[in-house]
Order: sequence, then structure tokens, then C-alpha cells
Amino acid sequence: MRAAIVIVGAGVVGLSTAYQLARAGLRDILVLERGTVGSGSSGKSLGGFRVDFSTEVNIRFSLESLKALEGFADEFGVDPDLRRIGYLLVTPSEALAARLRENASRLARFGVEVELLAPEEIGARWPYLYTADLAGGTFCARDGTIGPSELAQGYAAGARRQGVTILEGAEVVGIEVRGGRVMGVQTRTERVETTRVLCAAGAWSAWIGRMVGVEIPVRPVRRQVFVTGPCPAIRGEVPQVVEVGKGWVFRREGAGFLIYGPQDPAPEGVASLDWGSVGWAVAAAAHRVPPLAEAEVVGGWAGLYDISPDNHAILGPVPGLEGFYVATGFSGHGIMHSPAAGKAMAEVILTGRARSIDIAPLTIERFARGTLLEEPVTAHRQGDG
Ligand SMILES: Cc1cc2nc3c(=O)[nH]c(=O)nc-3n(C[C@H](O)[C@H](O)[C@H](O)COP(=O)(O)OP(=O)(O)OC[C@H]3O[C@@H](n4cnc5c(N)ncnc54)[C@H](O)[C@@H]3O)c2cc1C
Repeated sequence: MRAAIVIVGAGVVGLSTAYQLARAGLRDILVLERGTVGSGSSGKSLGGFRVDFSTEVNIRFSLESLKALEGFADEFGVDPDLRRIGYLLVTPSEALAARLRENASRLARFGVEVELLAPEEIGARWPYLYTADLAGGTFCARDGTIGPSELAQGYAAGARRQGVTILEGAEVVGIEVRGGRVMGVQTRTERVETTRVLCAAGAWSAWIGRMVGVEIPVRPVRRQVFVTGPCPAIRGEVPQVVEVGKGWVFRREGAGFLIYGPQDPAPEGVASLDWGSVGWAVAAAAHRVPPLAEAEVVGGWAGLYDISPDNHAILGPVPGLEGFYVATGFSGHGIMHSPAAGKAMAEVILTGRARSIDIAPLTIERFARGTLLEEPVTAHRQGDG
């Protein structure tokens, strides 16, 4: 078997890139996925999207992606279930509240309106929230949610229409390198001859990197989500509420609500729901949203965050290994940034440079150079959403 490029991973990032490459005219694109389309982190995500970030590169990725998400139904024939419920970021920490204010003025320079809110204002607008211990918060009405599975299926259908081959149940077990360049890919059952490989393996990217002797600093972190039944005391609009500094998220879903459980490292790359942690989730929920103390937890799931050392994606070629590219480490933001990432990666692979957006700050070289980025409000060590 022969391919112009092999993309490892059929999550939103690999599929978005495959679609953009095909649209730009590349043929013989092969996506290899050991599970099924979207069966990795993409299918476990909450699908939140927001513009409210601390770094210019993340803000630009959100704004570019948002344009594409607004046109997603027309382009892919799949409704992405875009809901502008807004993001409410709150914190009891004075230091983080100051960073939220800085973010708001940075976003104003991009034409994005973010409301700065005192605890009393938050309490008046969303009376089901406990606000006495808060230092402040921000609300961005432009933010909201999208359907992660809708995105994955839409990209896959669009890519297939453009002639991309997506093989499910095809685990990559080796990558052949000769003379400093990629020569082929080995699955459990066959060898694919290719001179280009894109690692879009999300939380499992470090394992792919080891196949070619490259350290890809992405670690899997388990995130658990619990689903509650109805809670009639919570009335009116419910935005996506993120308690920055605690890693706790809450929003309405159907008749009930979604609440985050604790996060923990998952070095083996496996995540299953631990019912033992439901107590943590309910206690965190009952603190910030007291009416939830009465709600019944009716289900949940677990998935992996794809965390990089500075909570930013890693995009581009890998110097010293010709033909090997990475698009990974989105650190909990891969769904929302998948449109811009796919486009930029296709440009880099085909022309050597991303024209639609500057991805230079996201090079893998930044870890060796020590030019890490800083996302203080949403840094994963503090938790985000
Ligand atoms: C609970 C939870 C909530 C989240 N909430 C949000 C959110 O609100 N907003 C947001 O934007 N993001 C969110 N995320 C993060 C988001 O899901 C990820 O950033 C995104 O899905 C990454 O997409 P990906 O394509 O890079 O990776 P994935 O979707 O994980 O795709 C990688 C694929 O590679 C495959 N693979 C791995 N190894 C191999 C191999 N050897 N051979 C073949 N295939 C292989 C895997 O099976 C997988 O399907 C959340 C994640 C979780 C777990």
C-alpha cells in the first residue's frame, strides 16, 4: 500500500487536516485509526468553545475557528449544534481575578466584548450560584458549545467525499525512518509506503513520537464528567460555568446538568469512570451551585485531556526528521481549535508555511529553546474547561 501522507488518528484534528489537504488538491491521503472515527478524546469532550484566552495565539485560533464553525453546516452538510450559551469564568482568587481582567482588556483589542463582573452582579444574574467567596468573574456571550461527535463525523464525511481513505481498526505499531526521513508506516497487518506522517494521536502522541525517537511532550490526564438528573430549583439560562483555579465545570445538558469530577494523571493512556470520585464532584457542585446538592447523579463518562507543558498545542514539522509533522497537545481545547489547526497544518505540509494563521509560537522546538507560552487563567495545573 502507498500513500502521499499517513495521518495517525481520526479525531477532530487528524480529520480536519485530512479534509483541508484533500481540498487543497492532495491525493492518496490515508488516515489510520486504531478505534473508530472520534473514539479517542474527541468523542468524550464537552465541546465547549471560547475566545476568552490569555494568549494572542489562542485568541486567534478561537476567532479563526469560530468563523469556520459558523459555516460548518454549509461546508460539511452536518449541523454542528452550535449553541451560544456564553462562558462564565469565576474565581475566589484575587490573583486570578486580576488575570481575568487583563484578559478582558486584551480581548477588547480583538473586538471581543467580555463583561467584567463583581460577585454581587454574578449572584444577581445567576441566582443559583454561590458567590460569597468569589473575587470576581467574566462573561463572554460569544462563547458556547458545539457537538464534538457532529464535528468528527462532519470532517470524516467531508474528507471521504474528497477522496480521503479512513481506515478504522488500523493501529500504527511502527514508523520506518531511514537517513533522517520518514519512509513508511507499519500497522498490525500491513506496511504503507509514505514519505510523510502526521501525528494527530492526541493524548497518545508520546507513544507515536517514541516510534521515531522524538519526544512529544504530551501527557494524558483523566477527566471525569458526571451527569445529574433534573434540578427544578435551577431556573433560567445556564452558561458554561468554569471555576478557574479549581478545574471545575458546570452546564445544563438536556433535562439535567454536567459537572466535572477530579482530574488525575493517566500515564497508561486509559481512562475509565471512577464512581468513588462522585463525592468530590457533588461536593464541588453543591458548593458553587447549592441546589445541586439535591440532584441525583444518573451517569457519567471519562476521557483523556491531551496536556502539553505550557497548555498550548504543538503544531508543525519536527526539525531533523524530514516528513514528520505533529498536531497535538491541545490541552483540552482541541475541539474548538480543530478548524484553524487543520487548515494551518495542511498549509504547512503542502507549502512549508501556514498562511492563514501564525503557528510559529506553537513549534515543538519551543520546549528545547525554553520559549514556553503562558496561559495563567486556564493553565491545566489549575484546571480549565
Ligand atoms: C472530558 C473532556 C472534556 C473536554 N472538553 C473540551 C471542550 O469543552 N472543548 C474543547 O475544545 N476540547 C475539550 N476537550 C479536549 C478535546 O476533546 C481534545 O483536545 C480533542 O478531542 C483532541 O482531538 P485530537 O484529534 O487531537 O485527539 P483524539 O480525538 O484523541 O484523536 C486521536 C486518535 O488517535 C488514535 N490513535 C492513538 N494511537 C494510535 C495508533 N497507534 N494507531 C492509530 N490510531 C491511534 C486514537 O484512537 C484517537 O482516536 C475535552 C476532553 C475531555 C476528555
